[in-house]
Amino acid sequence: MATVAGLHAELVRYNLVAWTAGNVSGRIPGEDLFVIKPSGVSYDELSAANMVVCDLDGDLVQGAHAPSSDTAAHAYVYRNMPDVGGVVHTHSTYATAWAARGEAIPCVLTAMADEFGGEIPLGPFALIGDDSIGRGIVETLKGHRSKAVLMRNHGVFSIGKDPRAAVKAAVMCEDVARTVHVARQLGEPLPIPQDDIDRLYDRYQNVYGQRSPR
Ligand SMILES: [Zn+2]
Repeated sequence: MATVAGLHAELVRYNLVAWTAGNVSGRIPGEDLFVIKPSGVSYDELSAANMVVCDLDGDLVQGAHAPSSDTAAHAYVYRNMPDVGGVVHTHSTYATAWAARGEAIPCVLTAMADEFGGEIPLGPFALIGDDSIGRGIVETLKGHRSKAVLMRNHGVFSIGKDPRAAVKAAVMCEDVARTVHVARQLGEPLPIPQDDIDRLYDRYQNVYGQRSPR
């Protein structure tokens, strides 16, 4: 609970959220439950005490507040991607600008190859209220190297083995979205050949990861 509460401060620190938009959740290891932000509580009032616990249908199990309005999407991801231990949602400016244009972010930076193993893909347009958002996230990210998806006209969902890794993916997604956007203003960014992308991704995810577990 404290981990998930504390990670919300990272969304603020990296300027990924405005008002109460944006949320972090974390699967409770070994149980069909996850911790998520309560709905409508401001970031500086979040603490372990007001986080809420939901089951994998997104129903409230523990907590005094209603869960985040994005809970159904988080629950759908946990139900359908058993290796995912953390989910983050933001409307971070640059990444969401790509989503508004309906364009995947092309892999034109070695940092993108390292972290995302290629482009950051575009997910479908989906309305809140049923499983459409969750289904769009899972259909886009399942079998994809990227840990982040740009949901069209909406914003970013990122996943990770734990909530911290999902927050890192959200931060890196915004960072590369900004850089590639700036590059676009000056001309057409140069693509990285696929075999170099593969080599960079493999090195960062394996060799580098073993020295410094993330
Ligand atoms: Zn949203």
